[in-house]
Parts: sequence; C-alpha cells; structure tokens
Amino acid sequence: MEKRTFTNLKESVSLLGFGGMRFPLIKDTTEVDIPATAELIDLAMKNGVNYYDTAYPYHGEKAEEILGGILKNYPRESFYLADKLPIWMLEKEEEVDSYFEEQLRRCGVDYFDFYLVHSMNGGRISKLESFKVYDKLMARKERGQIRYLGFSFHDSPEVLEEIVSLHSWEFAQIQLNYLDWELQHADRQYQILEEAGLPVIVMEPLRGGSLVNLGEKGTQLLKDASPDLSIASWGIRFAASKPNVLCVLSGMSEKAQLEDNLETTKEFQPLSEQEESILQSALVEYKKAGAIPCTGCRYCMECPSGVDIPRIFAIYNAYRISHHSFGLTNSYWMLGEEHQAHRCVECGQCMEHCPQKLTIPEYLKEVHAEVERVKKEVDH
Ligand code: SF4
Ligand code: SF4
Repeated sequence: MEKRTFTNLKESVSLLGFGGMRFPLIKDTTEVDIPATAELIDLAMKNGVNYYDTAYPYHGEKAEEILGGILKNYPRESFYLADKLPIWMLEKEEEVDSYFEEQLRRCGVDYFDFYLVHSMNGGRISKLESFKVYDKLMARKERGQIRYLGFSFHDSPEVLEEIVSLHSWEFAQIQLNYLDWELQHADRQYQILEEAGLPVIVMEPLRGGSLVNLGEKGTQLLKDASPDLSIASWGIRFAASKPNVLCVLSGMSEKAQLEDNLETTKEFQPLSEQEESILQSALVEYKKAGAIPCTGCRYCMECPSGVDIPRIFAIYNAYRISHHSFGLTNSYWMLGEEHQAHRCVECGQCMEHCPQKLTIPEYLKEVHAEVERVKKEVDH
C-alpha cells in the first residue's frame, strides 16, 4: 500500500482510506452488518490501510460506536482515526465540547488523529466564529486529544478561500472526482488548498458509486484502453494522481470493492496524459445520460412527507444509464407509494442539508414525469 507524508504532517498515511459512511448492511434493513464490517476492516488492516474515517451522523449516529468497537481489536498506534464535529447541530458554544466528549466516548478512544469541522460551507462560517469552534478545538489539540485539525467542505472556491484564511488549519477534505473537477470546481478547490500548503483528503472519489457505471459507451472506452482494470479504479487513480492528495477515502460495502481498491493503490500508477484524455471522453458519454448528480449521502433525510429521495435518484440514475424501462417502473413500484416522488410538498427542508445543493423538488418532478411517461410506454 502506497503511503504518503507531507511536510506539515509527520504521519505516513495510506493512500486508500476507509470511509465510514457505507458499511455493509444486513439484508433489507438499514442496520449495519457488524461482523461483515469487521471482516472488511480486518482485510484493510492486513493490507496496510491505516486511515479510518467516521462522523457523528453516519449510519443513524451508530457508525462511531461500531467503528470504535471494531478498531479496539488493533493497537491504537496502528491506525489513524478521523472524526468530525457536526457543526450544523450545535445550538450553543458549550456544545463544541459536549459533542467532542461524546464522540470520544462513542469511539472508545482518548484522542483523534484527525479531527474535522464537518461539512463547512459559507452559511456555517458565522457559527464557526461566534461559537469559537477553532479555539476550542485547538485547546483540545494542546491537550493531546486531537493530533491534526482540519475541516471538510462543500461550497464554492471563494468560500473555501475565506475558510482557509480564517485559521491555521492543517489539512482539508474535499469532494474530488473527475465529474466534480469541473462541475463543482474541485480543480480550483484543490489548487487553493495546494497553494495554502494544506494536504487534501479526498471524499467521494466515485461520487457515491455513480462513477462506477458510465453507461455502455463510456464503459467501453475505458475497457478498450485497459481491459483488466475496473471502472472504479479510474476514479481512484484520478484523485490519487494529484500530488497534494494525502488519502483517498472510499466507502466500501463489499469485499470485492475493497479488493479492487487495494489492487489500485498497492503499487500506485498515476494516470498518464493519454489515460486522462480517455477518461475525459468517457465522462462526455456519461454526461450525455443526464443522471442526477446525487451522491447518495442521505443528509437530506428524513423527509417529513416520507419521500425516499436518495433511492428515487438512484433508481432514476440507473435507468438513465441503462435505459431499462421495466427496471425503472419495477424498482419505483417496489419503493412503495408512500415514498415516491409525487409525495413531495416542496417544503424545501431537504435542500438545506444537501451538500450538492441539488434542487431536490425540481428533480423529483422530473423523475415523476419520466416514470409516468415510461409507465404509459410499458403499458402499450
Ligand atoms: S421538499 Fe419535498 S422531498 Fe424535500 S423534504 Fe420537503 S417534501 Fe420532502
Ligand atoms: S439529494 Fe443531496 S443530500 Fe440527498 S442523498 Fe443526494 S446528494 Fe445527498
């Protein structure tokens, strides 16, 4: 496993990091399959993955405890644990400390190697400052409870510049993949962090799995170029080819995904110029499909009207790529009427939480109209 170090960080971090948002689930439930997760983590550990990421809200607020419980089986100094302060949940200044204490308890540790202010954006800067979040966390660092302090980010490059300039952060986590390189200005975000000397932790290198299925033409282009490489490996390599990237997080739910990522990162080969250009051609094909740029993070849930937003978008996106009409109508029917798009009353609550800033009610209308159209087509 390739390890990377940076001048401001003395650690040797594995290029592949284990993202804690998509642990394996018990079939037909939203409950984490703990033995299966432990097995995955054991395989990752044995293959040199030493960065494990979690956050307060993941898996219905159970992920920290699950990950901490599994990591207890390994010497504390054999892994880096990253956790994040849910800044949007803070209602008063004292809660910076109470959430932090709770997270240490949940994880069963007495320090975090990497600690991030979670999901920073322009709207959260005033809370960051008025609740003295940075100073409070620096006090924790001085007490040895945080080794490196950073933030994760979803907003424009201009906002990123502002946040970077506010404090002496040590690293940052951004969404970086070959779709968002232009779509969400990840190129500019990466450059800002590089110029500021902050190593980058990459999240969503495959955009929640969307970049694993590029459609027939996109897939063919990549397979023609390298028949033995998986489509996912191109996404991991795109992110990891950037020299200021410290670690690429992947939320792995299956052993095959982990094995594939291990294969990609064990003797890492950056993308050549020719491969970059092939990937861009595949991306053009993917974009033609018109998929909704949802990562499946589920931050928008629960919808008060019962709409299962991420599942609806996943079903729709699968259809846009595959063009299987029956697959669309069948999966949509299986959702249950109470979770379908037409239940949306456009209250806007979900949009406040969507890091991708999707106009969710508009997309739901688009899905509903398409499902109705396809139903008529199938019925004929
Ligand atoms: S806008 Fe629609 S989907 Fe979003 S929370 Fe409100 S009802 Fe649910
Ligand atoms: S709609 Fe937004 S918040 Fe909801 S799952 Fe998709 S990307 Fe995440």
